[in-house]
Amino acid sequence: MADVYEDVSEAIGGTPMVRLQRTVKTGRGIEVFAKLEYLNPMGSVKDRVARYLVDQALASGTLSPGGVVIEASSGNTAMGLAMMATNRGLRCRAVVRRQTSREKLDCLRALGVELVLVDGDLPPEHPESYNRKARSLVAACPEAFFPDQHNNRDNNQCHYETTAPEIWRQMDGRIDVFVGGIGTGGTVSGVGRYLKERDPKIEVVAVDVEGSVFSRHFAALSGSDDDSAPPGRYLLEGLGDEEIIDCPEFEIFDRMLQVSDPEAFLAARELARDEAMLVGGSSGAALWGVREILPELQPGARVVTLFPDSGTRYLSTIYNDDWLREQGLPTARG
Ligand code: PMP
Repeated sequence: MADVYEDVSEAIGGTPMVRLQRTVKTGRGIEVFAKLEYLNPMGSVKDRVARYLVDQALASGTLSPGGVVIEASSGNTAMGLAMMATNRGLRCRAVVRRQTSREKLDCLRALGVELVLVDGDLPPEHPESYNRKARSLVAACPEAFFPDQHNNRDNNQCHYETTAPEIWRQMDGRIDVFVGGIGTGGTVSGVGRYLKERDPKIEVVAVDVEGSVFSRHFAALSGSDDDSAPPGRYLLEGLGDEEIIDCPEFEIFDRMLQVSDPEAFLAARELARDEAMLVGGSSGAALWGVREILPELQPGARVVTLFPDSGTRYLSTIYNDDWLREQGLPTARG
């Protein structure tokens, strides 16, 4: 039975690369390709990281069967960890912001995750905040394993070893620009590092969200004027952070762009309608980033981006006109 997997986690990775046909008006022979990470078993790119970190911890003895995996997650990593917990005889406890989409919370409950809901408006230094709570739960639980996806660079290494070689192979090594969203920074750092090692001319563009602190930090590091928007609230799930974390390898990024909530959401809705790719808001952010840089590219350039998760987990939010109106956001381009 050559094509039969022993458990669903073996189906992670090997996701398709698809040319964008109708959402980018390129001309000049420019081509844009998207790696569809929402086609992983739990519907996101984070399945890769969940498998990598859990299996590594089991192999090293940091985690033993019967143990509990505890992590802070915007939802997707927790779904991947739930898959790994079920298949490896573990328990999974996830710190999730109360503001997370209803679909994601429902999925996590359906998968048997023990949810610890926190108020996403608390400042990062608050002990009950998203950024601190997982750490204190871990300290109180001797059999806990904390993947620490925000600060553990094995997260980046997972993308360096799996996502990036797939991209390189799928593109026959002909890539000019990689555009990726930055949440923990694992994807864009791991993929970016691999691609630049193969071809230093490849440009790496990280897409952050307005209100996140990453762009300000990047501007300060590169010594340029800090013209990024001040820290603040945003609705886009999966990208940005309220504080600087260890995973982003800022030195790998050639550029950082900041998307607004409405630009990301409208672009995601276009992907659903015009490419039949039902994706989340961070995929819309990636498409927005691609469009931002298109006018500057050389004729014949090949651009690769990555769509992290499925739009089915945002039907009550970014695909719901009433919700958009309640947030004071547009439902279509005016
Ligand atoms: N998009 C979504 C929907 C996510 O959940 C995440 C992970 N937080 C990302 C993008 C960003 O990926 P990374 O953590 O690798 O930067």
